[in-house]
Amino acid sequence: MPEIPDLEAIRGFLNQHLPGVRVERAEFLIPVVFRVARDEFVRTLEGNVFGETERRGKFLIFSLESGHRLVINAMLTGRFQYLRLKEKRRARTCLVLGLANGWELRYADERLMGKVYLVPADQLSQVPQFSEMGPDALEVSREEFAQRIRSFRGQVKNVLVNHRFVAGVGNAYADEILFAARLHPYRKRTTLSDDDIERLHQAMGKVFAWATPMVAEQMREELNYEERRDFLKIHRKGGEPCPVCGTRISEITAGQRITNFCRNCQPG
Ligand SMILES: [Zn+2]
Repeated sequence: MPEIPDLEAIRGFLNQHLPGVRVERAEFLIPVVFRVARDEFVRTLEGNVFGETERRGKFLIFSLESGHRLVINAMLTGRFQYLRLKEKRRARTCLVLGLANGWELRYADERLMGKVYLVPADQLSQVPQFSEMGPDALEVSREEFAQRIRSFRGQVKNVLVNHRFVAGVGNAYADEILFAARLHPYRKRTTLSDDDIERLHQAMGKVFAWATPMVAEQMREELNYEERRDFLKIHRKGGEPCPVCGTRISEITAGQRITNFCRNCQPG
């Protein structure tokens, strides 16, 4: 699942390449991901010119000269690509925008769970989840974080990935943040001290600031991004030694979500 470091790196890449570029051709290929009719999509995109790309939580928001916003929530398996026309398309390519500079912006989605919206700029709040999202995890201040977390109960990992609390944290980086904050993922939020909460907020900023350039490193000339997370310290490292203390990293799978933590560094 693309999370803040992935989306920030993609946004940075696109802002070097897209602003001022005209869309010549809009291909609406797999209708199930679109929350806009084909005719309206093609008519609005063709001839339009890209402005800056922004991010809010897990949404990428492409601004267009006409005042519209193309909004994409990539969910679990959505992938953005910026490639030359001749590059082979990957399976389940949902959307292709042929650009006047000879490149293509593509969106592919193996499980087709992502969603593509096209709305006027002043109607972003119509996009589902948009108005209910908490502040972005990169922007929330220590005070607001501490204030907001009081309204959420349950296990701290579940709170952290809840977009109503803060937007943009997913399963993988939640494990990294909790490891950096030395908090057990299943600790009840109500048992956290003020110190714990402050450490959690700090860890969130540090982990994202560390991971984003690592991800961006993989995007130079083109954007053809396969989620690479081997540099993470704890997530998906079950059974390996903890990088801090050497204890075997624990792994618990619940539903489809894997949680990894170090029971020594993150005592219950
Ligand atoms: Zn450890």
